[in-house]
Amino acid sequence: TYPALAGRTAVVTGAASGMGAATARLLAANGAAVALLARREDRLKALADEIVEAGGRAVAVAVDVTDQASVDAAAARVRTELGRVDLLVNNAGVMLPNPIEDGRIDEWARMIDTNVTGALRVIRAFTGDLLAAAADGGAADLVDISSIGAHVTFPNYAVYGATKAALSHLSASLRTELGPRDVRVTNIEPGLTDTELGTHIDNAALSGELDGMYDALGPLAATDVADLIAYATSRPRHMNLRQLVVLPTRQA
Ligand code: NDP
Repeated sequence: TYPALAGRTAVVTGAASGMGAATARLLAANGAAVALLARREDRLKALADEIVEAGGRAVAVAVDVTDQASVDAAAARVRTELGRVDLLVNNAGVMLPNPIEDGRIDEWARMIDTNVTGALRVIRAFTGDLLAAAADGGAADLVDISSIGAHVTFPNYAVYGATKAALSHLSASLRTELGPRDVRVTNIEPGLTDTELGTHIDNAALSGELDGMYDALGPLAATDVADLIAYATSRPRHMNLRQLVVLPTRQA
């Protein structure tokens, strides 16, 4: 358990499934109030109900991070329902691999708009809250979920990897602006993790290749990454775990 999380106010994007849902559950179980953000409102509502039934505090806020008006509306609702946010987990993402010569500009645009510009829209919405919370002497955290794909190159994953490299760089750069004002920036780069991420792949051969990797490597569970997030954000506020790389033991 992480007693330091009690009383925190968190936003988790991509909370409809996978790492985001696991993180929201764990933060709430440790006493944080949690805003659940993603597009599938039915999933968010079911998770919010589950958290509230377990004695926690959660609110489901439907949002599409690729739509600026939707992010603005979601941020306003979060503030009305939960007040000032002091913990932001930027986790929403999509992974759509295909050979570069296929020229799938629709997929490239979706990945860039979700994984990079979407993350920026959410950072824009809540940075003021984080700075204010830190100025008042409390802990304040920005957590970005990047990927080992930011460093390791794979055929067919060029654009996904590029979006994650951008996000990792963004985390490092923002740390220079926010760290001196006591807002921690934690960048997490997981390897293969058992979630819904691969289910949107529009290429049977590449889906099969990914399934084979899951079978061979014994992936991380979403709860493993959630645990790292809870650990990092519950350290004393002068201590910043800046960069966490976590892979299944068998992933080379
Ligand atoms: P999931 O697909 O289970 O989760 C992704 C979440 O993002 C979903 O809840 C989805 O909800 C949400 N999302 C997608 N698009 C949008 C959008 N436009 N607006 C709002 N929310 C959106 O996969 P993971 O849990 O694995 O993914 C979480 C993060 O982890 C991603 O950034 C991914 O790149 C990263 N990652 C994953 C790895 C893995 O092996 N699984 C490895 C390394 C990094 P909805 O569809 O309802 O909007």
